Amino acid sequence: MAQTRRHMQAMASPPPKPWPTGTAEELEPLVRRVLAPNPSPFTYTGTQTYIVGLGDGCAVIDPGPDSPQHLNALEAAIGGEHVVAIMCTHTHRDHSPAARPLAKRTGAPIVGCAPLAFDTGGPRADEGFDPDYEADRVLADGEAMTGPGWTLRALATPGHVSNHLCFALEESGALFTGDHVMSWSTSVVVPPDGDMGEYMKSLEKLHAREQDRVYYPAHGPAVDKPRQLVRGMIGHRKQRENQILRLLGEEERSVEALVPLMYKGLDPRLTKAAGLSVLAHLIDLERRGLVARSEDTWRRN
Ligand SMILES: [Zn+2]
Repeated sequence: MAQTRRHMQAMASPPPKPWPTGTAEELEPLVRRVLAPNPSPFTYTGTQTYIVGLGDGCAVIDPGPDSPQHLNALEAAIGGEHVVAIMCTHTHRDHSPAARPLAKRTGAPIVGCAPLAFDTGGPRADEGFDPDYEADRVLADGEAMTGPGWTLRALATPGHVSNHLCFALEESGALFTGDHVMSWSTSVVVPPDGDMGEYMKSLEKLHAREQDRVYYPAHGPAVDKPRQLVRGMIGHRKQRENQILRLLGEEERSVEALVPLMYKGLDPRLTKAAGLSVLAHLIDLERRGLVARSEDTWRRN
């Protein structure tokens, strides 16, 4: 828990520069990482694109924002190697927009998460989503993409967004966790597409996996004690839930009233995101019959 709290505090303070933007760093024989030039309070030092392979056919995971600088860096890192697949964990704008231009440059198919599902009442997506994403092949939960010396198996992990996948590199025990589990911060869960109940189930799903040696998230450092981190995150969310129930037990409150009571010393740029996260908890608690709402005010049942 203390570990998770430290990570929450880290939200406003990425490590001192220089960050290794634009260069390929080898993390293990099968995995290289290229940092995109898009740091922000939501992306930490930026999106990390991973290249998986030994030099005779690779996969590119989360190609990132459509930035010519980043695409050039990826092309240089790939160095003419055959790209078997461009794989996206989900379709937020900091993850998938480079997929199509990279596919044009390399001739590789886009494989992985589905385009975002639409409700009958209208799009579930907000401005954070990449509306232009299209996949040549969608991987269902448990399906794999293979290349020379590597197998990447998709794990459906909805919650942060409904179309989120993690990719397990079976040869090495690495899991590419996208935005589902990150080391620098807990995931932002934004309704209506983000779903706290699904997110908790997806955390439990990773916690049940004993074969994952290391996580490579899309933002922030690799996680070398992954189950411990996931256990901490589950505990952190349950603590948030209990905090909401306690505060609503005192009196009816709005999301705007709950946020400053729950997040002390929050970076003001993250107030809206924190409010949406509280709302995601409330919707989940409402579904479970523990709270009720009238207009903008929430109370305990
Ligand atoms: Zn995301």
